[in-house]
Amino acid sequence: MPYRSPVDEIRFVLDHVVGFDAVAGTGKFAEATPDMAEAILTEAGRFMDQVLAPLQRIGDQQGSVLENGVVRTPDGFRDAYAEMAAGGWMGASADPEHGGMGLPLSLTNAVNEFMNGACLSFGLKPLMTQGQIEALEAHASDELKALYLPRLTSGEWGATMNLTEPQAGTDLGALRTRADPNGDGSHAITGQKIYISWGDHDLTENISHLVLARLPDAPAGSKGISLFLVPKFLPNPDGTPGARNDLRVVSLEHKLGLHASPTCVMDYSGATGWMVGQPNGGLAAMFTMMNNARLGVGTQGVGVAEAAYQHALAHAQERRQGRSVIIDYPDVRRMLATMKAEIFAARSICMACAAAIDMQHATGEADWAARAALLTPIAKAFGTDIGNEVAQTGIQVWGGMGVIEETGAAQFARDIRVSTIYEGTNGIQAMDLVGRKMADGGEAAFRLLDEVEAAAEAARGRAPDLAEPLWQAAETLREATEWLLGQPAEDRDAGAVPYLRAFARVLGAHYHLAAAQAAPGSGRARLARFYIGRMLPEHQGLLAQLRDGAAPVMAVTANDLEA
Ligand SMILES: Cc1cc2nc3c(=O)[nH]c(=O)nc-3n(C[C@H](O)[C@H](O)[C@H](O)COP(=O)(O)OP(=O)(O)OC[C@H]3O[C@@H](n4cnc5c(N)ncnc54)[C@H](O)[C@@H]3O)c2cc1C
Repeated sequence: MPYRSPVDEIRFVLDHVVGFDAVAGTGKFAEATPDMAEAILTEAGRFMDQVLAPLQRIGDQQGSVLENGVVRTPDGFRDAYAEMAAGGWMGASADPEHGGMGLPLSLTNAVNEFMNGACLSFGLKPLMTQGQIEALEAHASDELKALYLPRLTSGEWGATMNLTEPQAGTDLGALRTRADPNGDGSHAITGQKIYISWGDHDLTENISHLVLARLPDAPAGSKGISLFLVPKFLPNPDGTPGARNDLRVVSLEHKLGLHASPTCVMDYSGATGWMVGQPNGGLAAMFTMMNNARLGVGTQGVGVAEAAYQHALAHAQERRQGRSVIIDYPDVRRMLATMKAEIFAARSICMACAAAIDMQHATGEADWAARAALLTPIAKAFGTDIGNEVAQTGIQVWGGMGVIEETGAAQFARDIRVSTIYEGTNGIQAMDLVGRKMADGGEAAFRLLDEVEAAAEAARGRAPDLAEPLWQAAETLREATEWLLGQPAEDRDAGAVPYLRAFARVLGAHYHLAAAQAAPGSGRARLARFYIGRMLPEHQGLLAQLRDGAAPVMAVTANDLEA
């Protein structure tokens, strides 16, 4: 069953759930009129459905391969990439000063969702470029911007992010790659990076690597990391790719999924690079790219979940067992309703995060920046958790055929598996939420809960069966947040994952209520009732886990785990 980009669903979420009209009402995004949004989403959906979706299976079966030191992508990837770049999609949210379209992230994130649903392996490639554009716009010198941004924006050149090393995964403070000054303003980059997505390929004539490395006199740990732009080919004075730089792909990883996305071991042996941002300020600069990518990865979960749902739904409508097609059995109906309700919740959270980032950029207001920062780890972790859960449920709906590769149900689960791990594991996202994102004394969280409670209050008369449980849940979450703020770091960390999930549960119910209010008596209202009745109550168990603290967790000793 072919994938269809959910254009109408995104329109509904933009118009009725996450307040896109406020984004379009700002001076910065005044051109994002409803007609324009409609045109962008429709055209993007057509492209993803017709051009990218057919590459999903081919990409899985052929995979990218390393031949004579160069990565070759599967059949069809080059043409699709060229068409996508020509359509301006790489730099859709980039600054028009460097050739971008300047579109709000609310729209480009929606386009990314379509792309991920159509072909996740491919979708990872533009995501890297989009993130690098944002990092360079914020931190690069004018010379680097003038040289790189137009070429990245047009898609002529590709982009990567190089953080991870064998001994430095979550703990980037342990990285060892060196950056020695060449005396002419450039640096010689030496070291090995692993797991670099799209570290090499045949889609673009040059690749711009952003690499974290240490200056000779750098302090130890994460305060001694700088960021460098290291091109595969050193640009000539006219900007065309020149001499080969001293870097190479050593090997490609053999992975569970995402076969078409080349995951490279990279060797830098004195490669020429230029610093981006301040000496020893590399991690802060890289975070610009990582924050963008975190929302992007959450949206990978939503895209794959949507594709797996469509695939499972089609099967359930056709597969007969016993007296009827399986969609008519309560347990199969439960599975499909769960998938749909979860996708709506995760999509709304990701889109609300994108809208908050747009408002932050358009208004410069600290409250929007705090809202975006609060929602980012929730969008990343919940989006990818739901991507995994929905893909697994899809296999269950397919029955035995779900584990037979030909049906395609298993590929969704294999491809999305890594999303809870890369861009900061979901455990680390949760620790970010209960740590750094609460450093304001919980102000941003409480402000959001105020809005949730106000919306529930306003809906009490018309939809008491939805509004009352939501109000109660928000209040329970508020009390748990107050409790959390008084706990030491170890207790917060031990309860971080259940806390993040409880937060997402409440937000999901909030957005479902908005949908029900916008379309009373419709399928949306029935799905909201299903979510609030069946999924929202989970928050109580999750918050009980939080309040249990770290002691019972750490009381299970390392020896107990061995016994
Ligand atoms: C397919 C793929 C593509 C990737 N693409 C890129 C890329 O393009 N660029 C790039 O730089 N990297 C990339 N990565 C690397 C990825 O970001 C790392 O794998 C990830 O950050 C986790 O690091 P690690 O694998 O070393 O796991 P570890 O850091 O060893 O973590 C193992 C487990 O321990 C937990 N843990 C670790 N430290 C703590 C702590 N302090 N507190 C609590 N729990 C902790 C983690 O949550 C995790 O569950 C990619 C990885 C894969 C598999």
